[in-house]
Amino acid sequence: MKKKEFKTESKKLMNLMINSIYTNKEIFLREIISNASDAIDKLHYLSLTDKDIKVNKKDFEIFLMIDKEKRTLTIRDNGIGMNKEELETNLGTIAKSGSEEFKTDNEHKKNIDIIGQFGVGFYSAFMVADKVEVISKKYGSDEAYKWESSGIDGYVITPAEKDRYGTDVILTIKEDNEEDYSKYLETYEIESLVRKYSDYITYPIKMEISHTHAKEKKNENDETEYETVTEVEVINSLTPIWKRDKKKVSDEDYDTFYSDKFNDYEKPLRHMHVKAEGTFEYNALLYIPSHAPFDYYTKEYEKGLQLYSNGVLIMEKCSDLLPDYFSFVKGVVDSPDLTLNISRETLQQNRILKTIANSIESKIKKELEIMLEEKREDYEKFFKDFGLQLKYGIYNDFGMHKDKLQDLLVYSSSFDGGITTLKEYVNRMKEDQKNIYYACGETIDKIQMLPQVESVKEKGYEVLYCTDQVDEFVFMMIRNYMDKEFVNVCGEKMDFDTEEEKEELKKANEDAKEMFDIMKTAIPEVEEIRFTNKLNDHPVCLSSKGEISVEMEKALSKMPMNNSIKASKVLEINQNHEIAKTLKKLSKKNKEELQDYAKVLYAEARMIEGLPVENATEIASLVCKFMTK
Ligand code: ADP
Repeated sequence: MKKKEFKTESKKLMNLMINSIYTNKEIFLREIISNASDAIDKLHYLSLTDKDIKVNKKDFEIFLMIDKEKRTLTIRDNGIGMNKEELETNLGTIAKSGSEEFKTDNEHKKNIDIIGQFGVGFYSAFMVADKVEVISKKYGSDEAYKWESSGIDGYVITPAEKDRYGTDVILTIKEDNEEDYSKYLETYEIESLVRKYSDYITYPIKMEISHTHAKEKKNENDETEYETVTEVEVINSLTPIWKRDKKKVSDEDYDTFYSDKFNDYEKPLRHMHVKAEGTFEYNALLYIPSHAPFDYYTKEYEKGLQLYSNGVLIMEKCSDLLPDYFSFVKGVVDSPDLTLNISRETLQQNRILKTIANSIESKIKKELEIMLEEKREDYEKFFKDFGLQLKYGIYNDFGMHKDKLQDLLVYSSSFDGGITTLKEYVNRMKEDQKNIYYACGETIDKIQMLPQVESVKEKGYEVLYCTDQVDEFVFMMIRNYMDKEFVNVCGEKMDFDTEEEKEELKKANEDAKEMFDIMKTAIPEVEEIRFTNKLNDHPVCLSSKGEISVEMEKALSKMPMNNSIKASKVLEINQNHEIAKTLKKLSKKNKEELQDYAKVLYAEARMIEGLPVENATEIASLVCKFMTK
């Protein structure tokens, strides 16, 4: 029999498969099973439209057989089958559009990614087999044919014997080398691959499975005898949970599926079961986990949803389906509009993916809003772990997504200890309140003790407590919310004084200019020293001028590149505190001591702000000097 050559493109693809360094060779089974399922689909469809075709839906099946001696794995289906011409055209060449993807050898690496993403169909068998036979009988025909190939040098088609319509794909599994190929001849391995990749194929995938169990003893003293029973079992579970009727799936079912699938011992906070019928049809089952995985905020974390095409897994983690700010979502998406094989228009696939991704994004957003509205405690738990990701979502991409995300932010505040949204804050604002006030610090306790916070609270205004370093950058990005500006209570924009009070303070500051100049020589990193009225009983505080606040300086100093950026610091001294008088007195008689006082006051202000005091030893001696005077 004359050997026929493969078409050039097919050769390239075949070469890629045979010499594949792709680590995920096991996907060959998924590819062949999905072809089998497609073939059954076709016959199924025909039987619905053509009355002459009488097949019983219940008979449809995919049968897997292992022969260890011959080293063969057979995948048998009773689908539409192929005649001689179809064997020739379908298996002798691959579709033109797909071959475009396999151009040059230096694109080898890229091609390997493609295998991982969408699979390359039938030829992937050559990753694990050194001979592939396809015996097929087209439905309604009397003749069967065998297609056979041992690789790149071509294939032969010969007449063959086959009882029933359908196709047998017989793989002669490669001998082991550094790779263990023999595992594909083990029942349990095949069983687990079916569960992993093809669990939700809609036809039963059957295999003969042997179980050994102890025989019942006839007599107490008999030795235990064992017997092996071989039974045909259906390996796959047929209907995926996401395709089932929502009413028939319990919360427990959803939770169990989640923990099995995503290896999370903790129940998810919420699930979303989506059945979308729009431009593109898809089913999705999405989860919001109750805690962040240990690597969530590291580079190692990979976002993505499992992607299925009509029950066949085509991608473990499809990252295109989730925006970064919702990267915590876990789940599966299944769409009949997506095809398994890259040989069918990739651009179209991308367009479908994009549309599905948009739809999923708005579903997630809505679900978070519902949780925020109806389950405050759950939302608080969610936000504790994933809130930072939402904040980065606002800050990144030049604030492009801020409108989408800002209403999902929550903060602790001075209101009643609970969390508040920005909207709730604004709705609670006093009539004369112009701004949204916030204060930053390491912990809520520390923030609450800031002198500035106390005085704003005393005026009857609410203060948002910000403990994440990105918070202030987020507010800068949002700029204003419902026409209100964000104002840091420790910033220069804080100003509650009346015109009269302002005038008076201005004068006091002008009168003290000389004194402040002397003090400044002792603490040169302070941009300005001034009196203030906003501190009630507290002697000093540290605030900032300009765009960079003290909190931002702290955040920036932790980033590798930006450690030279500093806030323009202002040392504010309570005009009504005893210390103001003492300073004034000193300025007249003892300049040196005035400078020492400046150092100590600045150290105090830094401590209150949670900044390190670099010259602690000097400060300690100074304090003792004053104490023993
Ligand atoms: P794809 O399935 O994406 O078209 P493949 O390379 O996997 O690409 O298969 C090529 C073609 O061979 C299929 O389109 C189908 O027409 C045919 N084929 C493969 N396996 C079978 C099968 N088990 N029964 C019938 N036809 C099959």
